Amino acid sequence: MTDQNQLRSRLLDLDNRSYKAYKGIQGRYEFDDFSLSIDRIQGDPFAAPSQLRVFVPPEIAQFPPQLYQSPSRRVALEDYLTRQFSQVARKLSERRGTGKSGTIAIARVGQEILSRTTVLLHDGEVEARFTVGLPARGRSILGRQAATMLCEVIPEIVETALLFEALDADKIQTWVETNEDADFLRSELKKQNLVAFVANNAILPRKSGVDDRPLAANAVPFQSPPELEVSFTCPNGGKITGMGIPPGVTLIVGGGYHGKSTLLRGIEVGVYNHIPGDGREFVITNPDAVKIRAEDGRSIVGTNISPFINHLPQNRSTEKFSTTNASGSTSQAANIIEALEAGAQVLLLDEDTSATNFMIRDRRMQQLIAKEKEPITPFIDKIPQLYSEYGVSTILVMGGSGDYFDVADTVIALDNFSPYEVTAKAKEIAEQYKSDRAPEGGSSFGDITPRIPKPDGIDPSQGKKAVKLKVRDVDEVRFGGEDIDLSAVEQIVDPNQLRAIASALVYAKTAYIDSKRPLPDILDRVMADITAQGLDVLSRYPEGNFAQFRRFELAAALNRLRTLDVV
Ligand code: ADP
Ligand code: MG
Repeated sequence: MTDQNQLRSRLLDLDNRSYKAYKGIQGRYEFDDFSLSIDRIQGDPFAAPSQLRVFVPPEIAQFPPQLYQSPSRRVALEDYLTRQFSQVARKLSERRGTGKSGTIAIARVGQEILSRTTVLLHDGEVEARFTVGLPARGRSILGRQAATMLCEVIPEIVETALLFEALDADKIQTWVETNEDADFLRSELKKQNLVAFVANNAILPRKSGVDDRPLAANAVPFQSPPELEVSFTCPNGGKITGMGIPPGVTLIVGGGYHGKSTLLRGIEVGVYNHIPGDGREFVITNPDAVKIRAEDGRSIVGTNISPFINHLPQNRSTEKFSTTNASGSTSQAANIIEALEAGAQVLLLDEDTSATNFMIRDRRMQQLIAKEKEPITPFIDKIPQLYSEYGVSTILVMGGSGDYFDVADTVIALDNFSPYEVTAKAKEIAEQYKSDRAPEGGSSFGDITPRIPKPDGIDPSQGKKAVKLKVRDVDEVRFGGEDIDLSAVEQIVDPNQLRAIASALVYAKTAYIDSKRPLPDILDRVMADITAQGLDVLSRYPEGNFAQFRRFELAAALNRLRTLDVV
């Protein structure tokens, strides 16, 4: 008797038994076209569903090697298969009893193409990781339903979602070629000395604040100002033309509601690749660009914010600044310093989410409140040093203060969602109407002091469980007994990134955090391990819901852990 038939008859035998008896089916089964691995079985029909994997051998899956031979192509194919699996599984899921009985699902994905642990290609073998709500009525096993799910529905999903012959070859080709071109553009950016690129005809606006798909009706396609136009010759798509943002200080200005924040958002998420049809496939940003915003209420632990904040009341030191409740300006200062500590090359700021007193201090205010009485050195006085001393560029949305014309290298104005290059005009105006500000930035930016975390401050345990992690959307991680609030960390775009980040914190603690290594070194090592061994290095069990994240977001999670302690 084949494994598949054996599994079927075991499930039928389990009919009406208590739910616990499902534990007995754990194991690996050889089906005709694939192997099914039942890895972890849920405790009851309401618990997190059971975790399963299928492995389809290369000679059955039949993907042409050109579709997975480069990392860019492999990641895109894995992404495509994840989406296919998801679609088919949703269609074939049905209510088959109590609680989650009958569901079959793979981790949800958004508009990005990210390396994930949902579907993995190993030399043409396809592995898919998914969950199944093993069916029951109350706590009694529904054996026949289970047999249908595991022995009929799952093979149908494999046949329709994971085999090359069942899929749209042209669409897959577009997927891998688009992703490869996007990676190519990102690697070319540096060579052409640009920090970001927005292709002509890109669609930047989204359907809504809660729907990340492209705005369908009345979207104005992006068209580069001629002065900033650059072209690349991509390996698949050929020549692509668009706006190149040079290094230094770039200002995005324009009237309210003219598309400034939307352009910046496109650039923020341009650190990731997007699916064909998203509209932002060729909006490409330096991978070390970090969005900065004010975040009052966050905790700060031992951060040297003295480049921006000094002489606090009561003589509080700002070289190792800690607080459980940061103000708008202090939080924004810490966000910048921590991004630089983690290696940021480009800072992205929007006036909409910045603290006013961090961004500007005009001549009149300088007259009324003496420098000695103002702990904050405004960002405008530090931006030039950031670039001249550390080579860090800034892209800043600023419709409200023309004082920034003095420090800008490039000024882009948005008018009715269309960009214009207005640098010369802005400089002329700055000449004609002097701001008469006294520069307050001092002779240099100041030190960026890497901190050294202690392991004791990182405790993922709760009660009897050594590791207890729970992720809520892209905003929050329950880490042991602590909530880490990441709602202001805007470049976390996928809950599965946050799941991986939570596990990476545990991994970093176990492997590298030892009261000796500085944080940048810890980030290097964790990221290098992931590059070498895959996201699976973060977990002892095959996790199906990890997505690739960046070092900046890992650092952001650690920085917001309220129990963090540093040497
Ligand atoms: P600003 O930051 O200049 O105030 P936003 O970027 O918030 O403006 O954009 C205002 C509105 O216009 C948003 O609803 C946004 O989705 C929409 N929008 C932005 N860019 C475009 C575009 N290119 N085409 C159509 N609508 C757009
Ligand atoms: Mg705005």
